[in-house]
Amino acid sequence: MQLLGKTTTEMEKVLCEMGEASFRGRQIAAWIYRKGAASFAEMTDLPASLRERLSGSQALQFPTVAARFPSRDGSEKLLLQLEDGERIETVRLPYPDRVSVCVSSQAGCAMKCQFCATGMGGFRRNLSVAEIIAQPLLAMTTDEKARRVPSHIVFMGMGEPLLNVENVLQTLRLMHEEMAIPYRHITVSTVGVLAGIEKLAEAQIPVTLAVSLHAPDDELRHRLIPTSTKIRVLDLANAARDYVRRSGRRATWEYVVLGGVNDDARRAQMLADLCKGWPVHVNLIPWNDVPGANLEEQDFVASRPETLREFRHILERNGVNVTQRVQRGADVAAACGQLRALKEPSARPNANEPRLLTL
Ligand code: SAH
Repeated sequence: MQLLGKTTTEMEKVLCEMGEASFRGRQIAAWIYRKGAASFAEMTDLPASLRERLSGSQALQFPTVAARFPSRDGSEKLLLQLEDGERIETVRLPYPDRVSVCVSSQAGCAMKCQFCATGMGGFRRNLSVAEIIAQPLLAMTTDEKARRVPSHIVFMGMGEPLLNVENVLQTLRLMHEEMAIPYRHITVSTVGVLAGIEKLAEAQIPVTLAVSLHAPDDELRHRLIPTSTKIRVLDLANAARDYVRRSGRRATWEYVVLGGVNDDARRAQMLADLCKGWPVHVNLIPWNDVPGANLEEQDFVASRPETLREFRHILERNGVNVTQRVQRGADVAAACGQLRALKEPSARPNANEPRLLTL
């Protein structure tokens, strides 16, 4: 049986069924989720005979790290290969006071956001609980410094987490209960799956909800995200507000700022209006170049610095809390979703390839 992805209680049960004491299950869970062990052989406080029995009868199967892209700024992007050959991306982002890990929830994505490399590659499949929880654990084992348990998790890698909602909910529980990462340190980023937001609220899992808005008006939003035409901005705002009320957490509007597309003063004002009267802040994301990405044949470009500044000022003048994503890992990798498209997993993106998305 694959033990990765199981809870402590489930592991205790497995060990009992093997005729062992249940505390052995607790020891194994601690090795996997808190000490970053990737094999039974590393679990040195288990008797050698038990380690051997476990290796023979149970599995601890992680995706393979196909390539690592360390950045000069300390962040590192991992390209992981799954059992069936699919590839996903995970990023570790160390800061002086914390370690954040960006995880993928699906191989590929069905949402087709026009500016997103993952969307352009199409949908492959949902990730299992084991494949999602493996990501922060592998990020921990490749952290030469100290195998630090990540303090923060963001679901901003490949895929739409709320379209794989059951597995994501179960992984959130594992992160919270087994890895001891508080829910308030976890952010789930969604394109706006209303039923998924409702499930998150129902499950009483109080993470920070980040909603990828990208346009405050339905007309432009539907062009940027053609799969979202059934969702109105107003309904999205109501769902996010309802989640905030029920969870007690804050929400974030994510807004990729695209030159000449969504960075005008009128939309800044409309976005500010969507922030009135509830605890939401705006995260402005500078456009990461994705070659070939375009809207109705017009290539996307980043906003000019002065336009971005003006956009931000309008929000601030309206009393909106605004953050701007800082770019990290610019020297090593492409925008999310591009690494898996590389022919050779070991190939290093060169200076001409797009820069990395940041968190
Ligand atoms: N499916 C989730 C997670 C996606 S990745 C969602 O839609 O929220 C996290 C964020 O990165 C999203 O806001 C996404 O729209 C944004 N993003 C995707 N491609 C980007 C690019 N090329 N440049 C900047 N941000 C991008």
